[in-house]
Amino acid sequence: MRYLHQSETLMIQTTLSIIKPDGTQRNLIGKIVARFEEEGLEVAAMQMRHLSRREAEGFYAEHKARSFFDELVTYMISAPVVVMALRGENAVDHNRQLMGATNPKEAAEGTIRKLFGQDIGMNTVHGSDSPAAAEREVGYFFPKTAIF
Ligand code: ADP
Ligand code: MG
Repeated sequence: MRYLHQSETLMIQTTLSIIKPDGTQRNLIGKIVARFEEEGLEVAAMQMRHLSRREAEGFYAEHKARSFFDELVTYMISAPVVVMALRGENAVDHNRQLMGATNPKEAAEGTIRKLFGQDIGMNTVHGSDSPAAAEREVGYFFPKTAIF
């Protein structure tokens, strides 16, 4: 039992992670989940599913105007993905740190995208980028009763 200093605040968050098609198709599910667990993030919900175009477009709605939107959606529906809710202290930022930069070439050593990412599109994992995004994205895939 560790007692918290007054200045410390526990920020238990739940964030959305997706193992993208290049991850599932290269047999990387276990290695990626192991990274999260080793680093103290818990799997609170998990499902493998093949997204429809409509689901992928809705999920990435914020990027609708971007030049890469169609490429991104087509890629995300090219094979099954694993969607997960991850829980832990500062889970949103912690997950982003473990993932690394969007472009695997720019990702820090030891991050998931550095280890496994293939290019800026096929970068192996998705992670919510803010608490508000996490709330929306977890709710997009999981009803409250499916989060443990
Ligand atoms: P992140 O996933 O790091 O939050 P973004 O939200 O900016 O990055 O982009 C969402 C996803 O769109 C990226 O993870 C990547 O798969 C894809 N993407 C981003 N930029 C490009 C690009 N320039 N060309 C192709 N795909 C891209
Ligand atoms: Mg993003």
